[in-house]
Amino acid sequence: MYPRVMVNLGHLRQNVRTMKALCDEKGISITGVTKVFRGDPRIAKIFLEEGLTMLGDSRVENLKRMKDLPGEKWLIRPPMLSEAAATARFADAALHSEWEVIQAVAEQAYRMGRQHKVILMADLGDIREGYVDYEELLRVAARVESLPAATLYGLGVNLTCFSFIQPDTEKLEQLARLAQKAGEAAGHPLQIVSGGNSATLDLMLRGGIPAGVNDLRLGEGLLFGRERAKYQYLPGTFQDVFTLECEIVELKEKPSLPWGQVGVDSYGHKPEFVDRGPKRLKAVCALGKQDFDPETTWPEDPGVLILGASSDHLMLDVTDSRQEYRVGGTVRLRLGYFSTMRAFTSDYVEKVYLD
Ligand SMILES: *Cc1c(COP(=O)(O)O)cnc(C)c1O
Repeated sequence: MYPRVMVNLGHLRQNVRTMKALCDEKGISITGVTKVFRGDPRIAKIFLEEGLTMLGDSRVENLKRMKDLPGEKWLIRPPMLSEAAATARFADAALHSEWEVIQAVAEQAYRMGRQHKVILMADLGDIREGYVDYEELLRVAARVESLPAATLYGLGVNLTCFSFIQPDTEKLEQLARLAQKAGEAAGHPLQIVSGGNSATLDLMLRGGIPAGVNDLRLGEGLLFGRERAKYQYLPGTFQDVFTLECEIVELKEKPSLPWGQVGVDSYGHKPEFVDRGPKRLKAVCALGKQDFDPETTWPEDPGVLILGASSDHLMLDVTDSRQEYRVGGTVRLRLGYFSTMRAFTSDYVEKVYLD
């Protein structure tokens, strides 16, 4: 069945191994982030087999999919108040920034006879989740310990996700100092000081993570072997863990430029076209923006050009390819971060696992 995404589990395993060795060397534990592949347990299992002990996902539903896996599960988006019970059940720990929610989750955990581990988020400039009033964070740190079914597990920061503020040693030293004070407020040292995502890898490799920070939450780094500060691929990693195959439903010679009066697309943008001549071999594939993201996708065949996609048609120019394409044949695409996320979210895309 097409379209289908092929998951190269062997290459993923190698990526995890490489990344874990790099982090081990710096005394940093990895929380393996699973949201890109929708918490698919067959993929998350590789993280655990390679020695990771903590899994993080932004959706409780994905944690639920992984409930039979042994690792410690973190909810890495502040929980919805409306999902306090599910959070208490399926997450062992969560990144928090609202006292009201912490109380609600802890209360549900108490009813279930479970313990909830609280990681408080500090916003150090990205203006996404987390406390900007650090005194308030410290007050909450002390109050968490008063809840019978909750403990203060750690502190965390997230950067380079909304404002694309880069992590640096100074910011992480600030986090470590806050963690020290939060530990004093809670009456015990904190186990986890989580210094960010794959955007912190570059700083780590340069030896810039200060003492006191001991964890990173990694998705992109593990899956694509890429750090997100300079967007470099790390040596010893594979970039082809996720490949998508789609089927050609039309193949015709057509002009490169459209004809008629041009309007705007659904985002209000006027499309632009490159004149490559009046006769180009164009393929239409049965795949659309519902299933992938054209901007984070690269054809495996260097002679194939992605022209664009609508919600369920992908337009390619295959004129310069050395391969023979035909209707009913397929085209292979290498998927990046957002494209992989969409492929896993789309029910129209079959998932195939290669060992
Ligand atoms: C998505 C996410 C991560 C993982 O980010 P990568 O760039 O894929 O490593 C880490 N922490 C939080 C809070 C996230 O939302």
